[in-house]
Amino acid sequence: MSSLLIQNIGALVTGDIDKPLASADSIYVEDGVIRAVGKNLSQRADSVIDAQGITAIPGLVDSHSHPSIGEYTPAQNSLSWITNYMHGGVTALISAGELHIPGLPLPPDARTALSLALVTKRCYDNLRPSGVKVFAGTLLLVPGLSEKDFDEIAAAGIRLVKFIFYDYSLLPNGEAERYVRWAHARGIKVKIHSGGVSRSGVSQIAGWEIVSRIKPDIIGHITGGPIPMAEAEMIRIVAETDHYVESCSSGNYRMALVLARAVKQHNAYRRVLIGTDTPGGTGIIPRGILREVSYLSSVGEIPPEKVLCMATGNVGRAHGLDIGFIQEGRPADIVLLHKITGSVAEDALDCFAKGDLPGISTVIIDGEVRVAGRSQQTPPPERAATHK
Ligand SMILES: [Zn+2]
Repeated sequence: MSSLLIQNIGALVTGDIDKPLASADSIYVEDGVIRAVGKNLSQRADSVIDAQGITAIPGLVDSHSHPSIGEYTPAQNSLSWITNYMHGGVTALISAGELHIPGLPLPPDARTALSLALVTKRCYDNLRPSGVKVFAGTLLLVPGLSEKDFDEIAAAGIRLVKFIFYDYSLLPNGEAERYVRWAHARGIKVKIHSGGVSRSGVSQIAGWEIVSRIKPDIIGHITGGPIPMAEAEMIRIVAETDHYVESCSSGNYRMALVLARAVKQHNAYRRVLIGTDTPGGTGIIPRGILREVSYLSSVGEIPPEKVLCMATGNVGRAHGLDIGFIQEGRPADIVLLHKITGSVAEDALDCFAKGDLPGISTVIIDGEVRVAGRSQQTPPPERAATHK
């Protein structure tokens, strides 16, 4: 049994959008699980981190990423991106489909799509680059899948399927709605690529009409990936439906601002998820989630502790995963961060509110310290946690 005690935390963000801040200054972890969150905890532990008064947040969960093979991304012919994202505070990645595999016929036929999902799922089950949890094997929904295929992905532990290449002219035959029923019957969530055509060139366009027909759980990159649906259609989805909506850092900034306003007006904070939609044509952006949190907090004028929940607990809840919270019984995925020297902000939360990025000091995944002292991908925080 290994244990870890984090003391002297300043602000503590919970990941729970209904109660984003905890009045607590310490976290006790045993065997990778958070056992206690409270004030002045003093359990004996194998190792102790003195947070020196800086902020603790749940590890960031990228709601929309595109892993392919290990840490290699064909999208930019680059290596090691997942480790670099971890240094940007990301402790989990949700795959929006492994569609960058070189030579993959687009759209794939049903057997190819199914095989790709199963192989990728099995590989990432066996591989955690720098400890990062990669939820991959997201099945790309194409015509011709059978209910048995949904049994097979459920048995493999796949929990997400995605509409992106499905030919919506086939909607009258009822197959797409059947896919949604088959997924839900097995506890699998459904995401849709919304907006205009993606880099692949063959993704299908989806706005209000398609979304209200198919009724997926999550509207992928509603503010653009990179091209959003019409503004009025996006607002209608926020105002008139219960769908989760993603805002990705690779999207349209103006639409992200429109989304922020609509979310405030309709009190839809619980339904917003933050992702990057990378790697892709926008590149590899280790600080992508931090930048989106900063944008929605400062320009979008949503309190930063709430926006952080959209990049942590909301994403876990929407995808049916137990990650994204600093709460008893949850995996100990924790990031410690603070203002960067020279920033006019007071602390990490104030950084986001003012549009600055904070510096990361410590990243912990399943109770294991992965970054100590400072991150390789942010400037150093003015004050860093110490670990002994
Ligand atoms: Zn995408």
